[in-house]
Amino acid sequence: MEDEEGPECGKPDFVLLDQVTMDDFMENLKIRFQKGRIYTYIGEVLVSVNPYEELPLYGPEAIARYQGRELYERPPHLYAVANAAYRAMKRRSRDTCIVISGESGAGKTEASKHIMQYIAAVTNPSQRAEVERVKDVLLKSTCVLEAFGNARTNRNHNSSRFGKYMDINFDFKGDPVGGHIHSYLLEKSRVLKQHVGERNFHAFYQVLRGCEDEELRKLHLQRNPALYNFTRQGAGLSVLDTDEKSHHQAVTEAMRVIGFSPEEVDSVHRILAAILHLAVYQRLFEWVVNRINSVMETRGRDPRRDGKDTVIGVLDIYGFEVFPVNSFEQFCINYCNEKLQQLFIQLILKQEQEEYEREGITWQTVEYFNNATIVDLVERPHRGILAVLDEACSTAGPITDRIFLQTLDTHHRHHPHYTSRQLCPTDKTMEFGRDFRIKHYAGDVTYSVEGFIDKNRDFLFQDFKRLLYNSTDPTLRAMWPDGQQDITEVTKRPLTAGTLFKNSMVALVENLASKEPFYVRCIKPNEDKVAKKLDEGHCRHQVAYLGLLENVRVRRAGFASRQPYPRFLLRYKMTCEYTWPNHLLGSDKAAVGALLEQHGLQGDVAFGHSKLFIRSPRTLVMLEQSRACL
Ligand code: ATP
Ligand code: MG
Repeated sequence: MEDEEGPECGKPDFVLLDQVTMDDFMENLKIRFQKGRIYTYIGEVLVSVNPYEELPLYGPEAIARYQGRELYERPPHLYAVANAAYRAMKRRSRDTCIVISGESGAGKTEASKHIMQYIAAVTNPSQRAEVERVKDVLLKSTCVLEAFGNARTNRNHNSSRFGKYMDINFDFKGDPVGGHIHSYLLEKSRVLKQHVGERNFHAFYQVLRGCEDEELRKLHLQRNPALYNFTRQGAGLSVLDTDEKSHHQAVTEAMRVIGFSPEEVDSVHRILAAILHLAVYQRLFEWVVNRINSVMETRGRDPRRDGKDTVIGVLDIYGFEVFPVNSFEQFCINYCNEKLQQLFIQLILKQEQEEYEREGITWQTVEYFNNATIVDLVERPHRGILAVLDEACSTAGPITDRIFLQTLDTHHRHHPHYTSRQLCPTDKTMEFGRDFRIKHYAGDVTYSVEGFIDKNRDFLFQDFKRLLYNSTDPTLRAMWPDGQQDITEVTKRPLTAGTLFKNSMVALVENLASKEPFYVRCIKPNEDKVAKKLDEGHCRHQVAYLGLLENVRVRRAGFASRQPYPRFLLRYKMTCEYTWPNHLLGSDKAAVGALLEQHGLQGDVAFGHSKLFIRSPRTLVMLEQSRACL
């Protein structure tokens, strides 16, 4: 790997483009992609294009080149971002986080693995055994979680079907001493049903294909996945029975006629649902995550030191999803992406503009689409989609998905981001009484309300939990701790899946907002999963909805660094005769002005009310050099 990039590689930072138009952006992206330069900055944000081939960019040698360097000293790379997050954490004891986003197959999980590898490689130089253990668990946990939480889909052969946020705790030396994984919304419906061409979670096939004959016999399993309903659908067998719905209605009606009470029918449905939902696979998954967490609970910390750990969080969470039919899962996933986009806007676009205004820096406001109104459509108390859904779920008696849809229509008929067939009868791409559409920041998605209520209730019979809790198998027992609860404790209505998800998203965003953020924005170059092909239309769409152009504009209008005047003086006052050891210039601002003038750097800065804004990183390098020369 070369350290320097020639002009034939395009611009390493989109901020350096002559003009910020979509065409210019795409041109640069294409040139770099063709030259194997899959990484490009927008300031400190890293844009990454999935190469779909092994490039010689990774490994110990490359890591050594980035270790301890500043972000702009080497060509753009994930290692540089990992290094920047690590240094901010270590030098300034700041909690940091790396937010990786992009659509399915864009390379988020691979990126998170490279980041982890970098951190593992540069820490624990003294080889402390406990720290090595923690690092081992951190690295291996990825593989275990991929087995249980990833599956082959049409868009990605190794698609993460859960969201993952991993905190790595560091001690005062900067060595990892523990960690914690949060998992979000496992797509458990996949256990039961996979689309044509897709597969169940990897773990099922791994057991069938990988276990010894003897072990399989004990499990009463046969090797061929095609023998099992849950694992054979991906083979392309048609599993759709269009009559299922009418059969179900006929059976329910027959039960009523025979004399089953409505409560009894309800119970039968719940038990069926409990079995069908298998909320079992999710427990298994959660149990695996918890087991990993219990091993990582700050194992490597030196007990003689009880200082606070600092943290780097890595977020690898499902990207925006649009399928031919979108259900409750896609609704939650896309809501999650709205929340993260909102955070991005807050942190990168809004915060930056607000700071310039506050500091009295002249510059042109950049227009960007603020998606707060879509987040509000979903999560607003009482009227938001999740609140209406919860209301529907808590209503006694037969409430249907269709009634839920009608209520949504009533509440949101004038919302600019909501529509349905009822509200827009001429739009034949939606079905009456079944579909509603949200205009997401990333594009329009039509959701089918079928199953929303059931999936949101996510009901699991307490007797069923108790049964499993009373199992003689200790692992199974551990998965069902709530099975031991007294009946009086469980009469309270449990929180719905939607509310739990919303709460976890609110907590996640709060957590991320409290940290210094680094962003990796991943782009999927083509739908065919092949190397050397950059489908322009597909990429343009992603660049647009990820808000990358706005990001460049804000950044260009902006400054590479900003520092309060006193902090700036503290670091550089020794480089100027007027400021060393103390200045007599009336204000720190005036002193900073004199210092910069002496260095001939006043043209590259702007003077805010309380802070100095430095446009290019080169200025910082020069100041550092003159400091080092003393
Ligand atoms: P999902 O949202 O479905 O989980 P994802 O964004 O996590 O998708 P990955 O699983 O990271 O996507 O990447 C998909 C595939 O693309 C990988 O299995 C790998 O084949 C390829 N890929 C991604 N990043 C790289 C890379 N840096 N170098 C080589 N191949 C890569
Ligand atoms: Mg993934």
